[in-house]
Amino acid sequence: MTASLPLTPDAIAQAAAELAHKTPQEVLRWALDTYGDRVSLASSFGAEDVVLIDMLAQICPDARVFTLDTGRLPQETYEVIGAVQRKYPQLRLAIHVPDRAQVEPMVQEKGINLFYDSVENRKQCCYVRKVEPLNRALSGLAAWVTGLRRDQTTNRQTMAVVEWEQDRQMVKINPLIDWTYPQIWEYIRQNYVPYNALHERNYPSIGCAPCTRAIAEGEDLRAGRWWWEQSNQECGLHVRT
Ligand code: SF4
Repeated sequence: MTASLPLTPDAIAQAAAELAHKTPQEVLRWALDTYGDRVSLASSFGAEDVVLIDMLAQICPDARVFTLDTGRLPQETYEVIGAVQRKYPQLRLAIHVPDRAQVEPMVQEKGINLFYDSVENRKQCCYVRKVEPLNRALSGLAAWVTGLRRDQTTNRQTMAVVEWEQDRQMVKINPLIDWTYPQIWEYIRQNYVPYNALHERNYPSIGCAPCTRAIAEGEDLRAGRWWWEQSNQECGLHVRT
């Protein structure tokens, strides 16, 4: 199944050109055929991620999925995780939690809600609760699948369906990169996919509870993330290299 692993920037650029106009399901099939057990979906159980979970489960019921339980997620996110576990029982879902040895001194020294006090504190919390667990989740993988879409943020507009991540020396696969938000919801409703109840309360993008708010009509889809900061759209998980 994994006879050859395209793991060089040139091979990935060629794959990106070949996959540019394929459907998300075709891209997922390519990912599974190419990387087998060394590819996993990274899921935060947002609308895009549950679409990918449903697609993956149709293609490979025991595909690998991981999520980061930061310890500060909304209850609604835990509920959709449970619903997904019940609907797709064969999926191999790995739940990664932060390193206690890093969380405890951080909150003792800087306070339980340190992220509101400074950008530096917010980045430290995101590193401890998200980035470090992500690095652990990715270790041993050759490729990861994300639910990124091009129209979510400026940073994501130049992303390709398949990308080489120089700093991680691995492949990032974005099957929904060209999909629009209405397309995501059409798929969810047509296929009865479980979704986070916060989406129905004007939360298009959902992260940790204290760092996510509902958006007003006309606001950017990610305006509710770290809304108290001027530059508030990314947490370090999807930095371009
Ligand atoms: S989103 Fe907020 S609570 Fe979650 S890891 Fe980042 S700063 Fe911490």
